[in-house]
Amino acid sequence: MKTIAITGAASGIGRATAAQLQSEGHRTIGVDVNKADTTESLIADLSTPDGRKAAVDGILEHCDGKLDGFVPCAGLSGLPDRPGSLLVSLNYFGTVEMIDGLHDALAASGEASVVALSSNSTTTAPGLPMQLVEALATGDEEAARAVGDKTGSIMAYPATKMALARWLRERAVKEEWIGRGINMNAIAPGKTETAMVAEGMADPAIGPHMDKFPMPIGRNGKPEEIASLICFLLGPTARFFVGSVIFIDGGTDALLRTNDFPTAFPIPS
Ligand code: NAD
Repeated sequence: MKTIAITGAASGIGRATAAQLQSEGHRTIGVDVNKADTTESLIADLSTPDGRKAAVDGILEHCDGKLDGFVPCAGLSGLPDRPGSLLVSLNYFGTVEMIDGLHDALAASGEASVVALSSNSTTTAPGLPMQLVEALATGDEEAARAVGDKTGSIMAYPATKMALARWLRERAVKEEWIGRGINMNAIAPGKTETAMVAEGMADPAIGPHMDKFPMPIGRNGKPEEIASLICFLLGPTARFFVGSVIFIDGGTDALLRTNDFPTAFPIPS
């Protein structure tokens, strides 16, 4: 039996992940603004530094300082009247600060995994604002929030998910992480039927555009399909995955970015 913490565990992908892990006999610690149906449920607002600190302290207390897995799912999508700064603080800092805060407990496991939620919007949203990705990479939350508000939450969303994937890939290969037995990977789902997508679809400005997004498979993803990949990446047969960003999107990325990956590595001059 492993002990795995999941943020955003009260809904969607986080809830489906917790349910699958519990059915496999694992102990789950859920963190959310709403109560989660997990072995232990902590209420915390991860868009604030105080909420993140309380969540880290609560997880450490519940796992006695030894954590086998962490799945930071809590996140919000962009909407016309939602400030970009909220996504900066929740999607990015609410993920990376939690991972950092749990580092020592993950290292204490000896064989731990982190699976973060990026998105296929990183490669398929036209005009992704790189200035926000760069602001996030500095780690200055207040400065990044200001850029996020200027950007607006609709385009801030893919930027937070790109910055997260880059943050994770940079660290995953380092002695401090993989050298301490912590495998870190990200997944990049496409449109998946959760409350987040329902909220976007119900918005008169965004909904019609979301419907036009090409899905070669001809349907949206199901939270259980995403949860299966997360659970595989948390498991003992996935230890060779380090710093990967795995797309699970019904073919959208392959359709829109066919020849952009793999690309040739130039001979260093
Ligand atoms: P969801 O809305 O079903 O679940 C998100 C959860 O985050 C909810 O339980 C919510 O209460 C929680 N949350 C919101 N604000 C919070 C806060 N301030 N503090 C703590 N918890 C908070 O959405 P989902 O689709 O399951 O999304 C899960 C993750 O997957 C998100 O990071 C999202 O960006 C990512 N993702 C989703 C899709 C998709 O199509 N659904 C695609 C790509 C990536």
